[in-house]
Amino acid sequence: MLENNTSICDKCGNPCISKIEENTQGLYCEKCNKWLVVATHIPAIESDPTIFKIFLDAGDFKNKEQIKILSTAANINFLEARKLLKKSNVEIFSGSATKVKEVSKKLKHVGIDFYIDPVFPY
Ligand SMILES: [Zn+2]
Repeated sequence: MLENNTSICDKCGNPCISKIEENTQGLYCEKCNKWLVVATHIPAIESDPTIFKIFLDAGDFKNKEQIKILSTAANINFLEARKLLKKSNVEIFSGSATKVKEVSKKLKHVGIDFYIDPVFPY
């Protein structure tokens, strides 16, 4: 069954599909691998005005990877990051939802325990 908003590709005559991919939504022809009608899709996370804060919960100050990631995330040097990893409940980053998501992914990857305030819904 074709949906009402399905249209036919003008190149190959194949029915197009509705598709959302990253920041793009529209009609897509799978045969030509081409977008036909394109609109910008803004995910909720990108329009969320909330500033989220990441707090360090627990880390390992002997772990070089953790130190490296933390120093990048918190914008501090290696020594400061090492000191910070001995602490807990310290704010290490604040920013928009998309940035917090990016940073938290990296922290998770190296095994740093952290929490986000307010509760991060993404
Ligand atoms: Zn086509």
